[in-house]
Amino acid sequence: MSKTKLQFVHHPHPSPVPADKRAELLKNPGFGRVFSDHMVTIRYHESKGWYDARIEPRAPIPMDPAAAVLHYAQEIFEGLKAYKTKDGGATMFRPTENARRFQKSADRLAMPSLPEELFVEACDLLVKTDRAWIPDGDGASLYIRPFMFANEIFLGVKPSSDYLFIVIASSVGSYFKTDAPAVSLWVSQEFTRAAPGGTGAAKCGGNYASSLLAQAEATRHGCDQVVFLDAVEQKWVEELGGMNIFFVFDDGSMVTPPLGGTILPGITRSSLLTLAKDKGIKVREDRYSIDQWRTDARSGRLREAFACGTAAVVTPIGTVRSKDGEFKIGNGGPGTQTEDLKSALVGIQRGHTADKYGWIHK
Ligand code: PMP
Repeated sequence: MSKTKLQFVHHPHPSPVPADKRAELLKNPGFGRVFSDHMVTIRYHESKGWYDARIEPRAPIPMDPAAAVLHYAQEIFEGLKAYKTKDGGATMFRPTENARRFQKSADRLAMPSLPEELFVEACDLLVKTDRAWIPDGDGASLYIRPFMFANEIFLGVKPSSDYLFIVIASSVGSYFKTDAPAVSLWVSQEFTRAAPGGTGAAKCGGNYASSLLAQAEATRHGCDQVVFLDAVEQKWVEELGGMNIFFVFDDGSMVTPPLGGTILPGITRSSLLTLAKDKGIKVREDRYSIDQWRTDARSGRLREAFACGTAAVVTPIGTVRSKDGEFKIGNGGPGTQTEDLKSALVGIQRGHTADKYGWIHK
């Protein structure tokens, strides 16, 4: 659908949050609790296609109790960040990749495809309108949350005839509350995240609902995050609840689990693969077992491990715990290769280093 076909109607907020209150909120926003003033909405009906695009004050959305999403969880979402630039402008990191993944998620959940350019235009519009909500500071950004859900009022199990696409934004600081230099992981041996043929590669709410109990178990064992194993053999490391994972060996080479339909194809993961290859690092997309991980960590063959994602950026992993005991990685703190890759990525995202890849969207 071309831009000329669908024009966004603007309804500016009649009483946006005053500047002094906003400044107060932006001092220490945490993650996902401070929201900007506006939202974008676009509707879909099977006979009309996409229609009624708007940007308007962020507000509760009226919903019928029989709306399909409330019963059968036909819902998908994305997450990307906008950064403030030195010249007062704003940038996003690879939004077209998020638009493409959103289309793939939609396809898997039997939902309609939102054109890439409409997805990016909706994000652009919200960032432009709510630019004042982009916080300053090293780890801070405006987290953009596009999502879409089934809105037909019907209790039959079938793909909905109606959908609502919405984009909201949240001023965020660091994802992890911990001040520790590295995070700890709990290996989930009772619960799995995704099975072959399932929805593991889609960014749908249901994947996260089913990860909550495993995450709660991680918290109960004093760990920051859960790490999932594959559902078939319960042997291969897949990913964390909301991040991909990389392993760094003593010869400098790296491994990350392959995309086989059960893990989310992270945009940070793909960017790091490119950056690592360009640095001359040998990096493989290959299976890595929990037993090998433990053995390599103990022998010192494994030097570093880190988690990566839009929210978590690049986060070193210090300790891994399971019902079989615990092991440390390296000295339990951040490793040099992890820090190197992180600064290469963050440098591009924040506009401190040249973007030879064309990843920055102004
Ligand atoms: N895996 C899962 C399950 C996630 O939720 C995320 C966050 N979107 C990631 C990996 C990392 O993806 P990205 O780098 O695109 O944020």
